[in-house]
Amino acid sequence: MYFELCSTCITNAVFTNSYRLILKEHKTKTHNIKLINLLSLTILGNNSAIPAFDRNPTAQVLQTAEESFLIDCGEGTQMQLSKYKIKRSRINHIFISHLHGDHYFGLIGLLTSMSLLNRTQDLHLHAPPELEQLITLQLNFAATHLCFNLHFHPLHEEGLIVDGNKMSVACFKVQHRIACWGFLFREKKNPRKLNAERAKIYEIPASFYDKLQEGEDYINKKGTIVPNEEVTTAASKPKSYAYCADTIYDETLAEKVKGVDMLYHETTYLKDLHERAAARFHSTTIQAAAIAQKAEAKKLLIGHFSSKYESLDEFLTETVEVFENTELAIQGCCYIIN
Ligand SMILES: [Zn+2]
Ligand SMILES: [Zn+2]
Repeated sequence: MYFELCSTCITNAVFTNSYRLILKEHKTKTHNIKLINLLSLTILGNNSAIPAFDRNPTAQVLQTAEESFLIDCGEGTQMQLSKYKIKRSRINHIFISHLHGDHYFGLIGLLTSMSLLNRTQDLHLHAPPELEQLITLQLNFAATHLCFNLHFHPLHEEGLIVDGNKMSVACFKVQHRIACWGFLFREKKNPRKLNAERAKIYEIPASFYDKLQEGEDYINKKGTIVPNEEVTTAASKPKSYAYCADTIYDETLAEKVKGVDMLYHETTYLKDLHERAAARFHSTTIQAAAIAQKAEAKKLLIGHFSSKYESLDEFLTETVEVFENTELAIQGCCYIIN
């Protein structure tokens, strides 16, 4: 279920609560609630290599009105899905950026659980080619046969990898110690909103409604034109989200994610450790901010924090100095992309 939130709620939601809590708060404030499509991102894990300070390794879930897209699947991901009440059954596509364990060690457990829960619908896995061998080996040694079709889509070159009715997904290369991919999610153009009452006044047949939503004018039997704007209103702007995975500072990334509504960029280290970041093919706070600035992203989300840091406050302080509209990726928080 998806609801339209007033701007105050959206602001509060982004800063404080998981999606479930947003709705609870929203309802108690008795705002005018309408069913609409909403694009949101929930953080399941925000730490780098080693889990620490109650922070799990990387996993995120991007939710639309129709389905959920799982992005990376670090150890513990399925526990996090349960904790934040995100249904496994809504996930039809899983994207794995690279084969460092903190990005996929949770995958075999999740796939096995999906099978134990008698999943029937197909599942699509987009990942580096070697992952197929790894998964097959694990399943074979356990004599486990998945009860659903797992379609493996190896990532070889940059470009479109999912072309759905409402969402397209493209992959792009990022610079890391091993082959690593980022993912760019773009909503498709939404249809114009139809005002059915006004359409009836103009005696427009229901069979023409689809064309109205595509923006066509209506011409009645007498040859009179009913301008489209008389019976429809503009659709909401399609939204976009880019996930840059693990990467060294790489200015070419900015072009690949130009103009996105929300950009996720890793900040494994604070700015003073830029040499260590470069040596390990990771980034710092101000480097992530520079990419967001060059990309002209509307908003920046930072994560993949090193386990050497207990407090994350300094990550935000340093990043907002360069790119103001930044937020920390906090586990359980839901970020509405608008
Ligand atoms: Zn990592
Ligand atoms: Zn990595």
